[in-house]
Amino acid sequence: MKKMEQLYEGKAKKVFATDDANLVIVDYKDDATAGDGAKKGTIRGKGVVNNRLSNNLMKMLEEKGVPTHFVEELSDRETLVKKVQIVPLEVIVRNVAAGSFTKRLGVPEGTVLQCPTLEFSYKNDDLHDPLINHYHALALGLATQAEIDQISEYAFKVNSILSEYLLGFNIRLIDFKLEFGRLADGTIVLADEISPDTCRFWDATTGAHLDKDLFRRDLGGEEEAYQEVMARLLG
Ligand code: ADP
Ligand code: UDP
Repeated sequence: MKKMEQLYEGKAKKVFATDDANLVIVDYKDDATAGDGAKKGTIRGKGVVNNRLSNNLMKMLEEKGVPTHFVEELSDRETLVKKVQIVPLEVIVRNVAAGSFTKRLGVPEGTVLQCPTLEFSYKNDDLHDPLINHYHALALGLATQAEIDQISEYAFKVNSILSEYLLGFNIRLIDFKLEFGRLADGTIVLADEISPDTCRFWDATTGAHLDKDLFRRDLGGEEEAYQEVMARLLG
């Protein structure tokens, strides 16, 4: 597989074309941003951790019936994935109140929700990824009803599989963000990444943050926390 021109550089990854029009290579960086891009920095080794963890989790999900974009890990930071047209929604599942949910709804962080919740943000940097409901997504033509139903089903399925899996490593899955994409034939698959950048992981015993909140909130220890999650999951 030949790595060709760079198609896109995002905040955390670069995307490269390959000699196969249906495949792209993602290349994970150590760059970190928070607060809608207001805070910028690096978390040393993050790219390697996120690449390897995301691939591991996607493989596990695929085996349990959630189709993903994952094809092959090429190196510590590079992965071959199926090229998709990203559905411009950030699909967020929550089990425990944290982050923007606590602020918006006045619920203390750590409150266990009576059932898992699902929300959509419109993936649009200029508008700062506003929270929308599924009628908005339909009205704006971001996705069809059938796609929203499929995405919602997959999102809750990922939540139950991942929550149980992580608990086996003494990690509580508080909330997370997923992105989905369309293959050339319109099939919906899980894309982007699943990592401590996009999930809140709390140590199940101590409640310690094992995710990007350490960086977002200037708590420190983010480098070690990312390594800790990788060590627990990948040995
Ligand atoms: P951002 O764009 O938010 O800064 P990243 O730095 O993670 O995010 O950039 C990666 C980009 O690649 C994102 O826009 C993401 O939606 C997109 N992407 C993820 N998986 C795929 C895929 N399989 N095919 C095409 N694009 C993808
Ligand atoms: N999240 C993400 N990218 C975003 C916004 C949120 O990966 O652009 C993840 C975040 O890591 C957390 C979940 O989605 O696991 C819910 O985030 P929240 O809405 O609480 O936003 P935040 O408090 O991070 O601004």
